[in-house]
Amino acid sequence: MLAKSRRSNLALVPARKGGLRLKITYDPDLPMSYRPLVKQEIKDSDITECECGSDEIYVSLVDSKTIDVKCYDCGNSFFELEVEIEEE
Ligand SMILES: [Zn+2]
Repeated sequence: MLAKSRRSNLALVPARKGGLRLKITYDPDLPMSYRPLVKQEIKDSDITECECGSDEIYVSLVDSKTIDVKCYDCGNSFFELEVEIEEE
């Protein structure tokens, strides 16, 4: 007798919720060491897209202590990050 194997559907479902589908462009002046941190902050925030419909983010360095996270297309600022410089 043949037993029919019932295969459960174990197809891989891409995790859409919470997934980061934003494109992030960094200011060339932004130090490489900051980038993973900024990216994490953007992930932790609830930004999905700008009110103008763009999903491209531009991370610019305002000055040595301030990073501005804004829309690449319209320049709308989402938030600013303050860099804490640890003196050794
Ligand atoms: Zn925008």
